[in-house]
Amino acid sequence: MRRPLVVGNWKMNGRSASVARLLNDILAGIGDCKAEVGVCVPFVYIPQASEILKGTKVMLGAQNVADHNSGAFTGEISAGMLREFGCELVIVGHSERRLLYGESNELVASRYEQAIQGHLKPILCVGETLEQREQGRTLAVIGAQIDTVFEFAGVQSLEHAVIAYEPVWAVGTGRSATTGQAQEVHYHIRSLIARWNPEVAQAVQIIYGGSVKPENSAELFAMPDIDGGLIGGASLDARAFLSICHSVS
Ligand code: 13P
Repeated sequence: MRRPLVVGNWKMNGRSASVARLLNDILAGIGDCKAEVGVCVPFVYIPQASEILKGTKVMLGAQNVADHNSGAFTGEISAGMLREFGCELVIVGHSERRLLYGESNELVASRYEQAIQGHLKPILCVGETLEQREQGRTLAVIGAQIDTVFEFAGVQSLEHAVIAYEPVWAVGTGRSATTGQAQEVHYHIRSLIARWNPEVAQAVQIIYGGSVKPENSAELFAMPDIDGGLIGGASLDARAFLSICHSVS
């Protein structure tokens, strides 16, 4: 059985005082939460977060990782560097990276491959824009995003990875996908993987992101192919994030 997973993506938010406060509040309230829980914090706060989270059940993650393991790549952070500071997770291919910073399917797949080789668990984000959805291209777009990763790193790599379905039109808009819309795409992603490897398809966690909040999380997480969430805005508020974590059944 797949264990539910809830991960906070803090994006470019926080200062060291608020990082400490938010993490300590999460630790104080996490109790016997049934989900695996993680937080992906801005790079510079990773050492601080690592100290606070050491020995706890909250996993630490980053929001991106270099597509090489070392060398002349100004501004990039390698998987080895992230591991050295206690990271277990890393987001790759977030729609903000793809759309605002022009990251292609190939670049995302290289980053994913580096995460796997560096023993980080990549959270591979996939999703369509509103225009692509309206043109009926949702499943084709997501298929291409995932296929490129398989070409680079193989299907088997999904044993050490997580997929996050984040429809671009639902990210930061307050407009979540309906449970039916999300379940349909999650089911499609699992079927796509099953064509290559049915065991991996059954085991891989596929989480949903895009305007998840305490009001809609339980209903989303109850769907058969939705194994938890990648939470943006609501993960910056300890009460909201904890409420989402505790809403897994
Ligand atoms: P919101 O929860 O703010 O819509 O963001 C979702 C997201 O991008 C998580 O990675």
